[in-house]
Amino acid sequence: MSSVEEIKDKLPIEELVGQYVQLKKIGRSLKGLCPFHSEKTPSFIVSPERGIAYCFGCNKGGDVFTFMQEMEGVDFNDALKILAERTGVKLDNRHFEKAAPKDQKELMIEVHEKVARFFESRLWESPEGVKVLEYLRNRGLTDESIRLFRVGFSPDSYDATNNYLQKEGFSKKMLVSAGLAMTRETTVENIYDRFRGRLMFPIFDSLGRVVGFGGRALKKDQEPKYLNSPETTIYHKSNILYGFSHAKLEMKKTGRVVLVEGYMDLIATYQAGVKAVVASSGTALTVKHLRILKPFVNTLVLAFDTDLAGQEAAKRAYDLAGDFDYSIKVAAVPEGKDPADYAKNHPDGVISLFEAAPDYSEYFYGRLLQVYGTDGFAAKKKIISEFLPLFRQLRSGIEKDEFIRRLANDLNLKESQIYDEIKNMKLPAYHPARAYGGLDIGSVKAKKYSAEELLLGLMINFPRMAGILREQVPESLFSERLKPIYKEWSDKYNGQRVEDGFDVLSRLPDALQEAAKVLSLYVNEEYGEISEEAVEKEMRSLVANLNRNLLDVRTAEISKKIQQAERDGQRDLCLSLMQELSNLRSYGTN
Ligand SMILES: [Zn+2]
Repeated sequence: MSSVEEIKDKLPIEELVGQYVQLKKIGRSLKGLCPFHSEKTPSFIVSPERGIAYCFGCNKGGDVFTFMQEMEGVDFNDALKILAERTGVKLDNRHFEKAAPKDQKELMIEVHEKVARFFESRLWESPEGVKVLEYLRNRGLTDESIRLFRVGFSPDSYDATNNYLQKEGFSKKMLVSAGLAMTRETTVENIYDRFRGRLMFPIFDSLGRVVGFGGRALKKDQEPKYLNSPETTIYHKSNILYGFSHAKLEMKKTGRVVLVEGYMDLIATYQAGVKAVVASSGTALTVKHLRILKPFVNTLVLAFDTDLAGQEAAKRAYDLAGDFDYSIKVAAVPEGKDPADYAKNHPDGVISLFEAAPDYSEYFYGRLLQVYGTDGFAAKKKIISEFLPLFRQLRSGIEKDEFIRRLANDLNLKESQIYDEIKNMKLPAYHPARAYGGLDIGSVKAKKYSAEELLLGLMINFPRMAGILREQVPESLFSERLKPIYKEWSDKYNGQRVEDGFDVLSRLPDALQEAAKVLSLYVNEEYGEISEEAVEKEMRSLVANLNRNLLDVRTAEISKKIQQAERDGQRDLCLSLMQELSNLRSYGTN
């Protein structure tokens, strides 16, 4: 048995998927909310007998390896390593021989790990580092937290870092493409360190590997205040959340996550005991971030600064998250401080601060009253109009009625006046989520399955019937893409009495197996439990359909040739083609 098969054997698909998605048993399959797209009714299907999990809404999923790749954003080799570790399966090396000895990506990971250790050693062991360490301790971080998040210090020098890395065997070109060095001219010969004299926060991918850095200025005149790694082959700002790998377990356990803005805020919050906390690094929150979090949590607690920019960020996060059916809460950090300062002064208050966070609508409403006051018609109108878009997003009627009552009460108006006001107001054509590209996620297109795909799926699921109709289903019915599955299936089946179509499936080569299983699962979902007579009828009708299509294609081809032959004056050719066409019309393609 190969390592791949052994892993599949030891790790049932439902067990792996169950760690990310809540599943419910329905018949012989399990269903849950798709972790890859936003949806409100579960359409993500896990089929233990086929060993696959698939969403026919967004067409993502597959076996344990494909699922892992898509879920964790890793390639096949990484998925293999992770799952081998989890199942205790020893990997035979032949899986890696195919790949280049050490590919670019592995080198990138390696150089980041090396330099992260270098920055850590500079923090803990160099004379300048000691001062930086003092600064961190003064900000309230414990040594334990500093080590846990692997905070470091980049020497205030143009070449200390790259000299060290070159000695370790990394090329200048590598250092530039890893974003650790910059070039003075267009050549890579003349390089210098990107991060100089900065507090270094390593940014981890979902597996906890260092893939980039956020460098914070330590001197007053140092610009910019935050310098991040550029986008590289392993670091994409829009789909990496700082702290994610540390927060994973706790997020899964509690179903909620706190979103903060900065590295310091995150570490301080974590240290105070709120371990399910993440931050976007070097960019505002994106739709991708929200998608990454979805399998882990249902509740987002926004903890942004109380300044205007922080408010805007919270609003934006709220608008984006609406499409994902998150419950959104806002933790307003008291005393107008950021979470790091607050955590330093009130280490015991952090947990309750986030636990008591009110719903966003509640918070937003409170702010409107605060900002505009409740006196005068203009202020009242303003409050109603600004609250309206949010009001429309409220899901429950009770919640809506409750807000109407409160508006009437707080603004000293009659409820009917508020209803009138709301009716007369138009929702602005500009919807913020639209501007941020937040709405596109709802519009994933379900793939349409073709007649040949349905036919092949039926053959797999009903091998006995397929055997009976074998003569009517020639290879020529299938396109190049599906022919290999058909051929393999037909070889493996080969007249033997195969009771279970899945046995046939499991004898297909890996590459074809997954596609065939998805087809089989689709057909299962599409037709449900049907009788053999119904299967036969459906197969015959699909075959007839495909034959008609083939006939149309062949007819068009020959007609084209006839026209050409006529133009060229080739009478004989023309006649024989016409004969062929007439045969085709009377006997079909067989
Ligand atoms: Zn989906």
